Amino acid sequence: MIADNLLRIQNENPQSVQLVVVSKTRSQAEIMQAYETGHRVFGENRVPEMVEKSEVLPQDIQWHMIGHLQTNKVKYIAPFVSLIHSVDSLKLLKEINKRARQNDRVIDCLLQFHIARESEKFGLDLSETGFLGEKPFRDMQHVRICGVMGMATFTEDENIIRSEFKSLREIFEKLQSDVFNENPTFREISMGMSGDYKLAIEEGSTMVRIGSHIFGPRE
Ligand SMILES: *Cc1c(COP(=O)(O)O)cnc(C)c1O
Repeated sequence: MIADNLLRIQNENPQSVQLVVVSKTRSQAEIMQAYETGHRVFGENRVPEMVEKSEVLPQDIQWHMIGHLQTNKVKYIAPFVSLIHSVDSLKLLKEINKRARQNDRVIDCLLQFHIARESEKFGLDLSETGFLGEKPFRDMQHVRICGVMGMATFTEDENIIRSEFKSLREIFEKLQSDVFNENPTFREISMGMSGDYKLAIEEGSTMVRIGSHIFGPRE
């Protein structure tokens, strides 16, 4: 079932859209069913769980951190994380840069924006991105900002979801032209989950994060 679901989603999505299989709470056996289809990109939202899985599962898995990341936990994932979707402060970015340097790596990151109506969701506002033009950020040699990430409101109302995805795309385009000067490294829009990824793709998503549509509902 897991393999069938994954392959069906892969076949339906445009090739240009990267699927991140969200494996939080799933067992090693479940993850291996997805892995055996050839899929290598998995997303986790908790540091201890991601570290534990990275130690026991195949080494060629690319682990994406998709959940809120505390500064004091960055050191545990810095040796291996492939992409951090949830950068929401300059303080966090500085810590990622420091830990990446200690590991002799450059860590790819996305800036998470707050686009939903729910106040408990994390993320920056466009007005808080001034640091991207300033020296402390420009001096960071060990992080690479590859795009943006956001989560829509949990609602049945497609108009709300669509307008939130549109707003993330507008933020992306503004940063792409005004801050990143069309640098091709800045290219990802991570938006869309099991309930809303089709809308997200219509609105320009380049990366969808899907868990329950592949593995079934979480406990
Ligand atoms: C859990 C989670 C997902 C996937 O959710 P599903 O509804 O199971 O597809 C995507 N993004 C983030 C940030 C998550 O925490």
